[in-house]
Formats: sequence, C-alpha cells, structure tokens
Amino acid sequence: MATMNQVFAAYEQRKTALQASTNAFAKGVAWIEGELTPLHQARIPLLDQGFMHSDLTYDVPAIWDGRFFRLDDHLTRLSASCKKIRMELPLPKEEVKRLLVDMAVRSGIRDAFVEIIVTRGLKGVRESKPEDIKNNLYMFIMPYVWVMEPEIQSVGGSAIVARTVRRVPPGSIDPTVKNLQWGDLTRAMYEAKDRGATYPFLTDGDTNLTEGSGFNVCFIKDGVLYSPDVGVLHGVTRKSVFDVARANGIEVRCETVPVSMAYSCDEILMCTTAGGIMPITLLDGEPVNGGALGPITKKIWDGYWAMHYDPIYSFELPYEPVKGKL
Ligand SMILES: *Cc1c(COP(=O)(O)O)cnc(C)c1O
Repeated sequence: MATMNQVFAAYEQRKTALQASTNAFAKGVAWIEGELTPLHQARIPLLDQGFMHSDLTYDVPAIWDGRFFRLDDHLTRLSASCKKIRMELPLPKEEVKRLLVDMAVRSGIRDAFVEIIVTRGLKGVRESKPEDIKNNLYMFIMPYVWVMEPEIQSVGGSAIVARTVRRVPPGSIDPTVKNLQWGDLTRAMYEAKDRGATYPFLTDGDTNLTEGSGFNVCFIKDGVLYSPDVGVLHGVTRKSVFDVARANGIEVRCETVPVSMAYSCDEILMCTTAGGIMPITLLDGEPVNGGALGPITKKIWDGYWAMHYDPIYSFELPYEPVKGKL
C-alpha cells in the first residue's frame, strides 16, 4: 500500500502536468443548458430559484488519478435528495454519468472536484403549479479541492466545538439532503477563526455532536470508531471510512455521539470527498493523541486512498495519453 508521502508526491506530479496544460478547460469546465464553458466564464440565470432561495440540492463526487470514485453512490444520493425535496434529476443518471465522463476527458483534469447541482428552476413554488416547475441542472469539473491541504494532513489540523451556533435541526432543514443553506456552517467557520482554529464541529444544540462545515466527524475511543447518525449528511466518504474500518476489524458505531466524546477520545478524523481523511490533532487548543496522528486514523487514511484503485469502487476514464510528458 502506498504511504501518505507517495500518494501526495504522485498527486503533485499530476498537478504540475495539469498546470502546464494549454487546454481551455484545464482550470475547469462547466455544463450549463447543454453548453460547455471554461469554468471561470460560466454564468447562471439570476432568477434561478437555486440562487434566489437556495432552493436546490447538489452532490460532489471526485476523480482521482484518472478514475471516478464511487460515482454511483453520489448519483444515488443525489436522486434521493431530489425526491425528498420534490424535485427530479432533469436527466437520467446514465446521461449525467456520460456527460461528466466526457467533460473530464475533454478537460484533461485527472484529479477533480465534480459538482452537480439541481435547482428548483426559473419558477418559484409560491406562484407556480407544481406540474409547471421545471428543475435545472448545472455541472462543473475543476481541479481537486482540499478542505485540508496535504501538508496539514500529515500532521493534523485544529478544530473547535462551536459554542456560538448550533447545526440546523433536521426538522428544519433535512441534513440528509446535501444543501447550500450554509448559514450555520459559515458562522461556525468564523467562530473557528476567531478562536485560532481552522475547523468547527457543530452540536445539535443539546449535548451531542453533529458534523462540520462540509465534512463528517469520526471519533476513535478504545479501538471503536464512533460517528453521529442524526443531524448529519450521510457522507459517501464516511461510508468508505466505515468500509475500511470494518475490513480492518475495527468496530463501527454510527449512533448518538455526546460532546464529551470529543474530549475523551483517542483520535479524531474528519472526512469529505474534497480532501478525504483529515486528521485532527488539536481540539479547543488541547492536543488529541498527544498532538500526533493516531494509528487507526493512519490505517483508515491508507485504506481510503487504496480503495480509489479498486474496480469495485472506481472506474478508469478514457483520457488521451499525455503528450510530451516528463
Ligand atoms: C458534502 C458534505 C459532507 C461530506 O459528504 P461526502 O459525501 O463524504 O463528500 C458532510 N457534511 C456536509 C454538510 C456536506 O455538505
């Protein structure tokens, strides 16, 4: 299995090759109303309800080393999210998949952050009959995004348990529908900055933990991995964490996690598609695991990146061979 240094070194090489590319889509490509545009020139209609009322759902799969990772899991979650908020994926899943593969191949981006957004569309719910509402699809692909940079992953990041804001309750905004109503998460990120840390963990407003600003959280105590089950998005990365943990004989408990767990556990990791497995070694200014990456976190990190080459979880994209490489 490749070590963290090997995984990052190989990625840096691919990143350098991409930065030298003259492809018009190398910095990103967007699909809007059937047209492909360089990402930074892409525009959306102002009156789309996605913009007017954040009336949308979205999903973010990733491409790693030229392979799409768990794309079906993301598309299944996206379809389920649409259904929960009374929308429909405007194109069949297979068509979305075909378009994304085409965009990735045309851009030449081999490590990508991929975003698929479905909005209510140009007609609002109040003034329209449900049958007249036509949902809109927007998609883009850009170079891989790191919620925690590789340099930090090797030593661990700093987090806080937010005190000034709580996670929105599930009875208000359903957190299992991936959404961009980030008011609580943005407040929490500011609180983290104010307190000299980078990442916030939000509580349920009572004594339990939920998740952070775009990532799930896992706590390891006495060899068992815990992660909150309610008030959170059911992350695809977390699913991978559970898969790797179980394959290594580590017990997984997805259940209510009290705030006290954060302060009494042995290891903490955060997980998201944009960055993978992100170790936390400082919480509320106090070291976790003596301030060093823990053994279970390392095992999960290694297993997670190894999974990206497993055909059960990923498939290769048909890129043109890189010309004049190295
Ligand atoms: C996207 C997201 C996550 C992580 O989900 P993945 O499927 O692992 O990328 C966790 N929490 C929130 C609020 C998110 O938006």
